[in-house]
Amino acid sequence: SSRCTRCYSTRQALIEQNAKINAFVHISPESAASASKAGALQGLKVAVKDNIATKDSPTTCSSAILKDFVSPFDATVVKQLRRDGADIVGKTNCDEFGMGSLNVYSVHGPTLNPFPYTSGASTGAGGVEERSAGGSSGGSAAAVAMGLCDAALGTDTGGSIRLPASYCGVVGFKPSYGLVSRWGVVSYADSLDCVGVLGADVPVVSRVFDRISAFDTKDPTSAEPELREAASTHARRRLESLALDSGRGKLDGLRIGIPQEFFPSELSPAVLDLFRGVLQSLQARGATLVPVSLPSSSYALSAYYVLASAEASSNMARYDGIQYGKRIPTNSLADLRNVASVYAQGRSAGFGPEVQRRILLGTYALTSDAFDNYFLQAQRVRQLVKDDFDAVFSIPNVRTALEESVEGSEGDSGKVDVLLHPSAIGSAPPLSPDSSKSPLDSYVQDLLTVPASLAGVPALSVPCPTTSTLLTREAGEQGYDGWPVGVSVIGQWGSDELVLAVGQAVA
Ligand code: GLN
Repeated sequence: SSRCTRCYSTRQALIEQNAKINAFVHISPESAASASKAGALQGLKVAVKDNIATKDSPTTCSSAILKDFVSPFDATVVKQLRRDGADIVGKTNCDEFGMGSLNVYSVHGPTLNPFPYTSGASTGAGGVEERSAGGSSGGSAAAVAMGLCDAALGTDTGGSIRLPASYCGVVGFKPSYGLVSRWGVVSYADSLDCVGVLGADVPVVSRVFDRISAFDTKDPTSAEPELREAASTHARRRLESLALDSGRGKLDGLRIGIPQEFFPSELSPAVLDLFRGVLQSLQARGATLVPVSLPSSSYALSAYYVLASAEASSNMARYDGIQYGKRIPTNSLADLRNVASVYAQGRSAGFGPEVQRRILLGTYALTSDAFDNYFLQAQRVRQLVKDDFDAVFSIPNVRTALEESVEGSEGDSGKVDVLLHPSAIGSAPPLSPDSSKSPLDSYVQDLLTVPASLAGVPALSVPCPTTSTLLTREAGEQGYDGWPVGVSVIGQWGSDELVLAVGQAVA
C-alpha cells in the first residue's frame, strides 16, 4: 500500500538513473525470492550504506583498502530487512569509513545532489549544477531523493544521516544510541555510531525503524529490553496526552525548545529565515516555543572531533594488510621481513587523505603528552553536553536518572518535549572543491548535528517547507537559493516515537 510509486521498476532503469548521481556503488540483481517474501516490509525497496555488511555484495566502506571485501555474513539490520520481505536494491556511496560531511572522500567518486533532476531545474544551458549530496551517507540520501528506492539505511556518527538528508531534501533519522544493532556495521567511532533510516517521508522512516529497533545480544552496546520499555512508556504517555495524530493538525500543549546555541554566526541568513517561518506556523497551530540554553553545545564540535578521531584511530588499526585490508605485493625479501613496511605500504595506498588525517589526529590525542589536554577534556565536555540535554527535557533520561527523580520530574514548566533547530548551517555546498578551503571548513558542516550524537539522543531531520509565498519572499531577500534545507527535532533518549511524531507535524 505505502509502496513507492516514484521508484524505478526495473534494475536497468535504476542503473541508468543512478549513473547521473553516483548514489549506488553496487546494484543487486533483482531477486524473485525477496520480492515475493511476505512480511511487514514486503516489496519495500531499501538501499544499504556501503559500511553495513551484506553477504551477497561487496562492503567497501568506499575505501580502496576494502575494495574487494565481501562479508561472510549479513549485518543484523540487513537480516531484519530480509526477514521482513524488503528488497535490498544495493549498496550506497559514502565518505570513506563514514569520515566526512560531503561524500567527496570516496574511492567510488563523489555522489551528486539530485536536486536539479527532481526540481526540474536541470535544463539550464550550463548543465546540471553540481552540488554535494552531503555525507557521509550521501548515497543513501541521494538514492531516496532521486526515487531510486523507498528507504535507505545510513549510519550517523556525528550527523552523517541528518546532514545529507537536509541537503537532498529527504527525511533522515538517527535513533537513540543503542536501539538499532551495530553488529555487522563497520566501526568508525563505536561510542557514537548509530544506524538509522532515510526516506521520502516520516511514515516510511518510522515503518523501517520499527522493524530494526530491537535488542541484539551480538551488540554489546544494544539497549536492554527493560530500558527500551521504560523510555518508550514515558514517550507514549506524553504522546497520548498531546494527541498529535488526531488529524486536526493542532499542536496544543506541545512544548518546543529553541536552543540558543544552535544559531551560530556561521548560520546562513536564508536558513534562519526559513526556520523562523517554521516556528511561526508551529506557534500558530498551538505549540509553545520555549527559548532554552544548552551552554556546552558550543564546545561540542571540538570535543566530537577529538573523540571520534581517537576511536577511529583505534578502529582503523585492524586494516593491517594481513588479516584485514589490502596488501601491496612485493618481491623484495627485505620488504617482506620488515612487517612495519608491509603495514605502511598497504595503509598508505589503501587509506584516503581524510582517513589518514583522522588516524594521525586520533593517535596524537591518545598519546601521553596530549591525553589529559585533549581526550580527557573532550570526555568531560561530552558529559556536560549530556547533562545540558537532561536539564531541558521534561521526559527523564532512563539511562541515568534515579527512580525517584524519574517519577518526579515530569510536568516541570520550564522544560520541553523536544528541541528544534536548523539541521545545517546552509543548503548543499558546491561539489567542486574550493582549494582555498581547509579540511576544517568541512568540519563546520557538523556544527549543529554533533551535540545529539555526543548525548546519544534521537534526532530527525525533515525538509523545511519552503513553498509558502511569505517564506519565499522573505527568504529570497536573504539570498535563499531554493535548494533544500532541513529542520531537526531532538528528543530525550528513547523518545524516538515522540521525535518522529513531532517531525511528522513539522513536515
Ligand atoms: N562529518 C562527521 C565526521 O566526519 C560525521 C560523520 C558521520 O556521522 N559518520 O566525523
